[in-house]
Amino acid sequence: MPELPEVETIAVGLRRRAVGLRIDEIRLLWPKLLRGAAADLRRLRGKRILDIRRRGKMLLVSCEGDLHLLFHLKMTGQFHWTERAVPTDKHTRLRIAFRGGGPELRFRDVRKFGVLRILATPRPLEAAPLRALGPEPLAVSGPEIARLLARRKGRLKSLLLNQAFLAGIGNIYADEILHAAGLHPLRTSSSLTTSEARRLASSVAKILNAAVEAGGSSIRDYKDADGVDGSFQSRHRVYGRKGEPCLRCGAPVERRVIGGRSSFFCPKCQK
Ligand SMILES: [Zn+2]
Repeated sequence: MPELPEVETIAVGLRRRAVGLRIDEIRLLWPKLLRGAAADLRRLRGKRILDIRRRGKMLLVSCEGDLHLLFHLKMTGQFHWTERAVPTDKHTRLRIAFRGGGPELRFRDVRKFGVLRILATPRPLEAAPLRALGPEPLAVSGPEIARLLARRKGRLKSLLLNQAFLAGIGNIYADEILHAAGLHPLRTSSSLTTSEARRLASSVAKILNAAVEAGGSSIRDYKDADGVDGSFQSRHRVYGRKGEPCLRCGAPVERRVIGGRSSFFCPKCQK
């Protein structure tokens, strides 16, 4: 599933091309993508796109009239630009055509877990479901993350995946962050020493910044909005590397299911 670095990369690419365009028509090819009334989509006709940004793992497309398209890409959601005349393939769920011709933006989703909501509000970040999200991990300081950790209970892996704790971290980056911090995924937040909490907080920023810089991780289907793969997967130190040597100490990386999710970690250097 695209996490913070992937969705950020998509948002940057879409922003570059779509801001300023005026929506001509939105065609929904898979009705279940939209949670809400189809009539809401028609309200976007003729509206100009003002901004596109990421919040957590979601993508917010803000238009004139306080109308917003909020996408959650889930497992396999992708955007791509294509000429209007090009026939849609069977996985295309939504088409957005713009005034003045030019390519249209299509949303493709093989697994069909993607979700689209229309928000009609001047303050979308304060509306459901965005208001339930915790802070952006790259917008809060290390000491602030350490303070948030001290207020929480539970296992570090589950906590990092909890979108109400920090928004945008999923399975890949949780494992990479814990490895960088030298902390075992089953450790609890209350067991952390001050220096361990600080190490975890700085690993959050270090890993996510490096992944954003690399355009995200391309495993399975992820591509950015211009069809380009990310490159951070080549720098994964534990994720997907079961049995391979830890890049820090050489011990074989272990995989264990924690909270229903695969977790990869080094049993030797993650304490
Ligand atoms: Zn190790």
